[in-house]
Amino acid sequence: MEGACVPGAVLRGFGNSVGAGRKWAGGLAHAYWAANVPPPFLGFLTSSTTLPEVPPPSRPPAATPCGRPRPLPAPPPSSPPPPPVVAPACNPDRGGFGARSRERGVVPGARPGYGRGSPASRSGQPESLSQLVPVPERSPQPSSAVRLAAAAPGAPPPPMAAEIQPKPLTRKPILLQRVEGSQEVVNMAVIVPKEEGVISVSEDRTVRVWLKRDSGQYWPSIYHMMPSPCSCMSFNPETRRLSIGLDNGTISEFILSEDYNKMTPVKNYQAHQSRVTMILFVLELEWVLSTGQDKQFAWHCSESGQRLGGYRTSAVASGLQFDVETRHVFIGDQSGQVTILKLEQDNCTLVTTFRGHTGGVTALCWDPVQRVLFSGSSDHSVIMWDIGGRKGTAIELQGHNDKVQALSYAQHTRQLISCGGDGGIVVWNMDVERQETPEWLDSDSCQKCDQPFFWNFKQMWDSKKIGLRQHHCRKCGKAVCGKCSSKRSSIPLMGFEFEVRVCDSCHEAITDEERAPTATFHDSKHNIVHVHFDATRGWLLTSGTDKVIKLWDMTPVVS
Ligand SMILES: [Zn+2]
Ligand SMILES: [Zn+2]
Repeated sequence: MEGACVPGAVLRGFGNSVGAGRKWAGGLAHAYWAANVPPPFLGFLTSSTTLPEVPPPSRPPAATPCGRPRPLPAPPPSSPPPPPVVAPACNPDRGGFGARSRERGVVPGARPGYGRGSPASRSGQPESLSQLVPVPERSPQPSSAVRLAAAAPGAPPPPMAAEIQPKPLTRKPILLQRVEGSQEVVNMAVIVPKEEGVISVSEDRTVRVWLKRDSGQYWPSIYHMMPSPCSCMSFNPETRRLSIGLDNGTISEFILSEDYNKMTPVKNYQAHQSRVTMILFVLELEWVLSTGQDKQFAWHCSESGQRLGGYRTSAVASGLQFDVETRHVFIGDQSGQVTILKLEQDNCTLVTTFRGHTGGVTALCWDPVQRVLFSGSSDHSVIMWDIGGRKGTAIELQGHNDKVQALSYAQHTRQLISCGGDGGIVVWNMDVERQETPEWLDSDSCQKCDQPFFWNFKQMWDSKKIGLRQHHCRKCGKAVCGKCSSKRSSIPLMGFEFEVRVCDSCHEAITDEERAPTATFHDSKHNIVHVHFDATRGWLLTSGTDKVIKLWDMTPVVS
């Protein structure tokens, strides 16, 4: 019997309210607290408590706020699965100015306000959907190009180096190997544990196992042609079971021989109606979890080959993680939402959804130890959802100038590796106390100099002053005019590795120590679609749109 999913028990906290994350807007956290979401959060585990259901607000189509979209095949995360537990708290009301907050709270789709970047507008989805037309208040995207350039050997010093680049980068990933030969993009690949080898699946329909030869080059020891392009894979080293998702919706399972010279077909699952987007094989439960372009999440028993259940996702999924211990599955989709389901043998329950991205989720990574979920998005940001911390904390990480394509977490050093469509690799130190960005305050006049904003006709008339545009300080969240916020600063502990708008007083208050970067920036020199990190050796595999796989020694930067 195929399990049906019970869409009850929508959990509060992170879930089902407005996310945040308008690019550069800062301030996520409040976003989930927006819209009638009451406080204390419930654990995932206890979340079957029935709560008044809040229908998820419909989202605008996922957009890449900062442009430069790159039409890549949806890429997957490549990280170890997980155990989560609890969801976060909610913040009651967040001030604001009377009339407006009321409007905000009530009338969905009402008055086209001025998009003054209230926390709601940051989500790309105004809390309660009222008001807010996006205002072009966004500092120009600075400097990762500059940083990357700086990181590249022989690059000329960037013009703004003194301000942007606090320390020269001396340590960087070492390119160990280029693995070439695929006719099309390698959609997924993994480093073979304890071997100098790589397993790859490609759009050119091939499954290849590449082993390092005496020549020092990687050559295929297995070259197998599938009936359809290979979109994704899951490899279980203990059993050497290789599950391959195909463009035609089938999942094909093989066992690789011990010497990686042969692969034996085991079975096929007719899992999806169209392209399989993600697969996870869960040895402990003998489950094969998968998502497809048919917007289905499905799980099969790998013993019997039987379909156990399914769930319709709101959009095509491109991130899939599983917590074995608590049997929660995390599904990130192209609408920008992360859906959390609790799986039973043959049914599932919707636990909650996280909304924080303004673009589609491109990758998920679960850290079962800290119980933290990372989501990467085409909106260029990464959000760290602190489930284990039980406070509803969500931290935004802004360090890419292009869509985030893949994530990996180095547990032993507590470093997050995020890779961008532009080839940028950012290594984040997650062993620091990070802060949430502040909520954006609403005001009809500058909270520093009291000049009216341009919609404030009354004050403009009364004081015979010209209305100004509203901006927001990323550090304190105050609504300020351009003159009172002319300076820029990075705020690494708030996730702003690039410079963002801050008010004059915050600019003065930020110390050089606070400006010290918490991430390092590197250039893989190809547009990354997928990564895999081998923690035991500190090797990173990147697969690019150039059809090349690169192996990197990350120990200079991940240690
Ligand atoms: Zn001002
Ligand atoms: Zn400020």
